[in-house]
Amino acid sequence: MSEFDLIRRHFTRATPGALLGVGDDAALLQASAGNVLAVSTDMLVCGTHFLPDADPFLLGHKTLAVNLSDLAAMGAAPRWATLAIALPEADEAWLAQFSAGFFALAQQHGVELVGGDTTRGPLNLCVTIFGEVPVQQALRRSGAQVGDEIWVSGCLGDAALALAHLQGRIALSAPQFAACAAALHQPQPRVALGLALRGSASSAIDVSDGLLADLGHILEASQVGAEIEFDALPVSAVLRKNITPLNPPLSGGKPNSSPDKGRPGGVELLQQCILCGGDDYELCFTAPAARHAQLLNIATQLGLPLACIGKVVAGRGCIVHDASGNPLNIEACGYDHFR
Ligand code: ADP
Ligand code: MG
Repeated sequence: MSEFDLIRRHFTRATPGALLGVGDDAALLQASAGNVLAVSTDMLVCGTHFLPDADPFLLGHKTLAVNLSDLAAMGAAPRWATLAIALPEADEAWLAQFSAGFFALAQQHGVELVGGDTTRGPLNLCVTIFGEVPVQQALRRSGAQVGDEIWVSGCLGDAALALAHLQGRIALSAPQFAACAAALHQPQPRVALGLALRGSASSAIDVSDGLLADLGHILEASQVGAEIEFDALPVSAVLRKNITPLNPPLSGGKPNSSPDKGRPGGVELLQQCILCGGDDYELCFTAPAARHAQLLNIATQLGLPLACIGKVVAGRGCIVHDASGNPLNIEACGYDHFR
């Protein structure tokens, strides 16, 4: 099969929303009146972001999902994508599954694949996504104000917990793992939430590198600090279940002084999953306190829990309080490829 047959068979679909799609030297795109383009790129590298034996359907889903998540965090409506893909070989069955996963999610969100590049090489997947948003309504990282409330959607830490299980750092039961694995392999980008937050949120980011790291980007861009209540962080039943039996003190002492140190399922691991785990793809955002009730309404309308986890304060940095109001000792965390 030639490169062009491969593209035609697996990556060419109708693109009624583009002036010109796959097949020429470039696609031709036009944003709707009153909108600007929001453009973002995310790359998934085999061995870094997924394992060589990853399920190709789920990989197709995730390749697009992580990009949709970036548009959601901007309050942008997704329109188009391009896909650059390096493949060790033209594996028909793999490609069929990968593109099925990709297009299933694309269809859900009205995204059209309008171009890309296909080459032989170590497996590597790179999507550039194009959305649109009225420029004044784009949700930037820089808009948080002192006194704003801090919110997060869905649950935190499930994907990191699933990964910890795969890496043998914790032992989950089969149903527990299944519940968390969905978060890891099939994240649901919060596009509808991003759109609903236009005009309400003062800043937003998607949580891909862990809550503290990503909230840290908002704080830095907005030149403010934050106080977070650990007990307010939204955690799934599975994660909560794996915390409770240990019943350890969550605060005090040095980070390494926990009696659970080194024990699989120790509180440090779970705390890490919630605060520093990657791959959540939830939205973290700030909004004036006067919007509190409106945001709870949005949560009901979308059927997506929104948790108010703290507030924006003057100063710099982030403090996480435990139930008794003491600051947790949190080491700098978040995934940095070059650290
Ligand atoms: P060029 O040589 O001009 O870079 P290519 O031969 O790479 O063109 O690609 C031919 C057409 O197929 C282009 O329109 C390109 O955007 C599209 N294309 C290539 N690879 C992909 C892919 N993986 N998914 C979608 N479109 C693709
Ligand atoms: Mg090319």
